[in-house]
Amino acid sequence: MTKPDHILLLAGTFEARLLARALAEQFPAARVTASFAGVVADLPDLGVPTRVGGFGGPQGLEAYLRAEAVTVLIDATHPFAAQMSRNAAAAAAVAGTALLRLERPAWRPVEDDIWQTMASLEEAASVLPAEARVFLSVGRKDFGLFTHRSDLFGLARMIEPPSAELPDHWQLVLARPAQTADEEIALLERNRITHLVTKNSGGTRAHAKIEAARRLALPVLMVDRPALPEAETADTVEDILKRLRPLLTG
Ligand code: NAP
Repeated sequence: MTKPDHILLLAGTFEARLLARALAEQFPAARVTASFAGVVADLPDLGVPTRVGGFGGPQGLEAYLRAEAVTVLIDATHPFAAQMSRNAAAAAAVAGTALLRLERPAWRPVEDDIWQTMASLEEAASVLPAEARVFLSVGRKDFGLFTHRSDLFGLARMIEPPSAELPDHWQLVLARPAQTADEEIALLERNRITHLVTKNSGGTRAHAKIEAARRLALPVLMVDRPALPEAETADTVEDILKRLRPLLTG
């Protein structure tokens, strides 16, 4: 008897959640394993067997791919989880495992958006004007890049408390992104925000703040996505399922 196909899904995004469910439904004969970094405590149930924690760099992942006879590696991590995506490309190439990437399209500016494109969060931190009141829509690991700017007021929103102390005069909001522009406008107005800094994550779930900034005519410092190694890439769950079918034996 041949072994079932084994799909390893690198998760950590909303799309990975949708994909895990679709894989379980559409490929019942395959073994599916989802993987989380384990950086947040509140992990969603993806409905498939799940492992948590790093693999130990590209070599650790390569060893896992071989030991667990992974047929296809699907990288559905966040567009800014560049280290994991680089490790996935390197490990898959060495182990000879097929690799697919799921990457939602980047946001694009529309009329009335006032965007300044940044190559990095560090660049955003350096170009913010003196005494700006900034809504920092960045990860909890990223705040430290802004705290040396003691002239800034920072409105920091994150799902779990930050690992490092924020400056006393900053405002911390422990919440997920609001889903309507009206709610985001209320937050921005209440805190008299003058600038927004965000990574170009794409997708709909964190987009309301972009519309809010447009409606308030606030400048957005939009940080470009990091460059990733070449990989066969789908931008929707449907597209990745189509690309996956021919790679499976069962
Ligand atoms: P990263 O910098 O690219 O990765 C750092 C290390 O974390 C990797 O080298 C790997 O450790 C481990 N890792 C990352 N994703 C993993 C996964 N799905 N399964 C197992 N190990 C994983 O990643 P990050 O930016 O810290 O993001 C961590 C997680 O949060 C990812 O799953 C990502 O999708 C999610 N996320 C990130 C962002 C963001 O803005 N960066 C936003 C939303 C969600 P080893 O080298 O030991 O294997």
